[in-house]
Parts: sequence; C-alpha cells; structure tokens
Amino acid sequence: MGLFSTDCAYCGDSGASENCSQCGMDFHAECAQQRGDLQIKEEGGGLLSSSTTHYRWACPNCGRRSNGSF
Ligand SMILES: [Zn+2]
Ligand SMILES: [Zn+2]
Repeated sequence: MGLFSTDCAYCGDSGASENCSQCGMDFHAECAQQRGDLQIKEEGGGLLSSSTTHYRWACPNCGRRSNGSF
C-alpha cells in the first residue's frame, strides 16, 4: 500500500488495524497479545450497561507504555 502501508510489525502481514500512538508502528492486536506486549482486560458492566475494555500497551518499537480503554 505504498506510503500508507499497514503491515503488522509482528507478522509482516497487511491489514494491521492497531497502531502505537507514540511512534505509529502498525500491528494486529492478536499478534501483540500473543507476544505479551498488549494486554486486554474486559470488565463486564452488568446487564444493562455495556462492558469496558481496558488495555495496556508496551511498545517494542519505541519502548513507551500506555493505558487506555476502548
Ligand atoms: Zn500480525
Ligand atoms: Zn511505539
């Protein structure tokens, strides 16, 4: 895809939908989880509210860490 390649930094395949907000490294969430760099924890919000997904990201490329939720 030329300049806007979204090749996964882990497996090299295209279609990486996630990227590091610090350095822009593209990756598949599944690949990062397998390597242990991305940890996802889902918290159920009960019957009526929707659940929240918290993530912890430790970038192997720039070495920065971040937390957040979807
Ligand atoms: Zn991948
Ligand atoms: Zn990074």
